[in-house]
Amino acid sequence: MKIGFIGLGHMGAPMAANLARSGHQVRGLDPVAPMPDAILRAETARDAVTEADVVITMLPNGEILRAVAAEIIPLMRPGAIFCDCSTVDVATARAVALQAEAAGLQALDAPVSGGITGAAAGTLTFMIGGPQTAFDAVLPLFEIMGQKWVLCGESGAGQSAKICNNMILGVTMIATCEAFALADKLGLDRGKMFDVVSTSSGSSWSMNSYCPAPGIGPTSPADNGYTPGFAAELMLKDLRLSQQAAREVDADTPMGKLAALLYGTFVEEEDGRGRDFSAMLPRFEKRHRV
Ligand code: NAD
Repeated sequence: MKIGFIGLGHMGAPMAANLARSGHQVRGLDPVAPMPDAILRAETARDAVTEADVVITMLPNGEILRAVAAEIIPLMRPGAIFCDCSTVDVATARAVALQAEAAGLQALDAPVSGGITGAAAGTLTFMIGGPQTAFDAVLPLFEIMGQKWVLCGESGAGQSAKICNNMILGVTMIATCEAFALADKLGLDRGKMFDVVSTSSGSSWSMNSYCPAPGIGPTSPADNGYTPGFAAELMLKDLRLSQQAAREVDADTPMGKLAALLYGTFVEEEDGRGRDFSAMLPRFEKRHRV
């Protein structure tokens, strides 16, 4: 396939590289990021998208996605597919899909889980909103970039699944970190704590696969001085998206709300910026009961 790939940052670059390695012709567009080998650098949006069968975007946020979509949708050929893999708000995903459909294109929102290691290894999970025909057409690309893909429903359903997933992740990471800090003060060995909880009803991905305590469980950013991984500010962005969505549909999400407040404090008033989101553990270690 001919693919236009827009946004070749931490996630986009390895995703695009995997597509090119599998024999697809990929034209990349990014104002700053270096192009991986085998990706043709497009100098303009027109150069990146006019001949593409599929255009994939992997951009920082919804505002940038809206601006990029407004520029490239009129340049794409009718029948081509606009597939956004960024994490953005549900309303933006739906608005971009409507704009694409009005221009005779098909659109998918297809955010991912799995982080930069999953992007490099081609083991991402894709959660997708949009029409079945577009999903079927892009499936061969999901199969290269990922190991799991779920068509969740109509436009916006992928982003809905993503923010619900990450709301659970933020809450379980905070719960896991505060439990480790409590266990420390109770004199419980961290290795014993991991052995028990990872095989008991308190287990979660945060404990079992991404343990926030250094030297415990599988290798995680905690073993690398809390270098991201998944940065605390990206978790904050996703938790705020969940709260924006909750307000829009009048859903009660008290734990998500508290998680957004805690990550907001951590990133904007403490030392969380630039650290992995699991660095909540050293934060709780320093704190006393309030
Ligand atoms: P990033 O900041 O590393 O990459 C974004 C890229 O977009 C940058 O290279 C930037 O130059 C480029 N860009 C910005 N404006 C552009 C424009 N107008 N035209 C072309 N390129 C433009 O971010 P990332 O970590 O790759 O994340 C991308 C998206 O994936 C975000 O929405 C993020 O929430 C989501 N995500 C990230 C992770 C992760 O672990 N990093 C995991 C899952 C989902």
